[in-house]
Amino acid sequence: MSSVTDFMNLSTMHHDNKLIAEYIWIGGSGLDLRSKARTLNEAVNDPRKLPKWNYDGSSTCQAQGKDTEVILQPQAIFKDPFRRGNNILVLCDAYDPIGDPIRTNKRSVAAKIFKHPDVIAEVPWFGLEQEYTLMEKSTKWPLGWPQGGYPKPQGPYYCGVGAEKAFGRDIVDAHYKACLYAGINIGGVNAEVMPGQWEFQVGPSVGITASDELWVARYILERVAEIAGVVVSFDPKPIPGDWNGAGGHTNYSTKSMREEGGYQVIQKAIEKLKLRHDHHMASYGEGNERRLTGCHETADIKTFSWGVAKRGVSIRVGRDTANEGKGYFEDRRPGSNMDPYVVTALIAETTILWKP
Ligand code: ADP
Ligand code: MN
Ligand code: MN
Ligand code: MN
Repeated sequence: MSSVTDFMNLSTMHHDNKLIAEYIWIGGSGLDLRSKARTLNEAVNDPRKLPKWNYDGSSTCQAQGKDTEVILQPQAIFKDPFRRGNNILVLCDAYDPIGDPIRTNKRSVAAKIFKHPDVIAEVPWFGLEQEYTLMEKSTKWPLGWPQGGYPKPQGPYYCGVGAEKAFGRDIVDAHYKACLYAGINIGGVNAEVMPGQWEFQVGPSVGITASDELWVARYILERVAEIAGVVVSFDPKPIPGDWNGAGGHTNYSTKSMREEGGYQVIQKAIEKLKLRHDHHMASYGEGNERRLTGCHETADIKTFSWGVAKRGVSIRVGRDTANEGKGYFEDRRPGSNMDPYVVTALIAETTILWKP
């Protein structure tokens, strides 16, 4: 008797140093993830020493015309929790043949912000909360919901336990462990207010690393859910009506916010974020207006607001930060489908570089 699993567990390390590198990139929608694998002859620690690669951009809605080759530039390496051993996941960004970043490559724009000396000096930390909804593959209806119907109203599900409250915990826990194995700075997981909805947190991680980690954590989630035959939805309001939407809360601090007198720096940053509210909202995720209604622990999309320990606001300052006079704040506006490269770079730009 043999099974596919037996072969999947074969070590590639027996005869030589060869390993498998899974190159990952963001597809044409700006949210879909793509990947393909290649054999490397020896282990490499520095992404810059990994070979560039390419793919057919016409198959991912990322190129038109005669030259459809898109170049993959390795940017970050993680351990591969699926193949294990010395095999790796390689997060890449994408360039056209001339060497310009393609339309969906928001990383290269973000990297410029995070390389600015003023931004580097402030050592920006990001803690990214990723909410998502698990969907039944055949019906695209949330996991655990009655077919074609609705479960009991929200209330018992947030951080809930029990067969009538928590749906898909195996997937959540498998993802959690796989992320830790990969070397992602994942901070925790919890069941959300809407049944079938869950959250994980990445960070705090410095600068662009937080976004690299979030993208690879999303990739791992898609792969774990693929094995389980379940669909992951990053829609910011997957079910209309009296059901919570899904956010991408972005927790943020700079060096001067974390030090003595930090509360004043936080106040100044919030002032600047208020002045640029519309500019930020335009980049905080597609369909976010369906989520930011002013109900279900959100602030209305049109009005900027902030508060200490409040959840119906754009920006929340935690109780601890207010008490200690330093710390961080939470931008509650980004939707679950946001591109973290766009959101984190914009927050850093507005609060550190922008002069009103
Ligand atoms: P919530 O109460 O909004 O659900 P979570 O515990 O889910 O909060 O997420 C809080 C996030 O804030 C975590 O990812 C955590 O790592 C991050 N965080 C903690 N301290 C800081 C800090 N000083 N700067 C930035 N992020 C931080
Ligand atoms: Mn949270
Ligand atoms: Mn949450
Ligand atoms: Mn939050």
